[in-house]
Amino acid sequence: MRPADVDEAIKQAFEVWSNVSPMTFRRIEDGEADIMLSFQYRAHGDNSPFDGPNGILAHAFQPGLRIGGDVHFDEEETWAKYNTGYSLFIVAAHELGHSLGLSHSSDPGALMYPTYAYTDPKKFHLPQDDINGIQSIYGQALKPVQPTGPSTPVTCDPNLSFDAVATLRGEMMFFKGRYFWRKHSQIPEIQMNFITLFWPTLPSGIQAAYENVEKDQVVFFKENKYWVLNGFDVVRGYPKRIYQLGFPKTVKRINAAFSDKNTGKTYFFVANKYWRYDENRQSMDEGYPRNIISDFGKTGKVDAAVQHNGYIYLFQGPKQFQFDPKTKKVVSVLRSNSWFNC
Ligand SMILES: [Zn+2]
Ligand SMILES: [Zn+2]
Repeated sequence: MRPADVDEAIKQAFEVWSNVSPMTFRRIEDGEADIMLSFQYRAHGDNSPFDGPNGILAHAFQPGLRIGGDVHFDEEETWAKYNTGYSLFIVAAHELGHSLGLSHSSDPGALMYPTYAYTDPKKFHLPQDDINGIQSIYGQALKPVQPTGPSTPVTCDPNLSFDAVATLRGEMMFFKGRYFWRKHSQIPEIQMNFITLFWPTLPSGIQAAYENVEKDQVVFFKENKYWVLNGFDVVRGYPKRIYQLGFPKTVKRINAAFSDKNTGKTYFFVANKYWRYDENRQSMDEGYPRNIISDFGKTGKVDAAVQHNGYIYLFQGPKQFQFDPKTKKVVSVLRSNSWFNC
């Protein structure tokens, strides 16, 4: 990293905490600061040797005299401004949490969760769990730069809703914000992960997704862009604009999508209308858009859609409609997270 980028990453990491608390930080050029930051190699005199590339990335000491509050980074890591290596900003922000007295959080979305997870530094907002933690020690800021932070969705929250739902090689994937849940028919446990863990280049807040089983691809939509992924890799040339699929310019985003693997037809839901796309001809079918309400029962605007075992599931806030395409009727109304064995 360029020295200027190192300085900037460290400055931003301090701001993460000063933005939500009464603390201020000042850099000194020489002498002994309360918090000394350094890059260290292997055994470096504090009985906590580093382990070379990967593994332990850094450590910090709880507040106190001398080494108290100090942060050491493993100099054998590939540090980076963005996700071409370990983000120095993210790791520094986490370690500074320790310097200020925080221990690890069990909230998987928290900065103080023990596992490294990349977030774009430009889009980083300190999660609420960390705000609560730091304010429980130092109190609230009079005029906080960041008053509140994002909360991690709770798997069994009865009000849980999804941004998008798709299948992927026999699994079901449920997307919300920076997270997704995986459900495999043979594995009872539900796993929640960061989207970036699987697809580092995808944005958070995916609005629609579907699997093209024939091509072994998953297609993701956000605003007027879409990404085609083969496994973990974005296919070259994406994202593209949704207008290349045949949408008129009046369509700004897709709310939901599913693909019928038997017919090769993909259904796109936009507000209270839907379009049908032919995957073989690669064009929109004639006669669309149609009203959702005239063909999918009394559902109206939907957040997410997926085909599973012959049924279409249309998600709308905390509930979902199970639609039978043979009888063209909604056969049941379920909670959106009914898939999670709550
Ligand atoms: Zn050390
Ligand atoms: Zn830690």
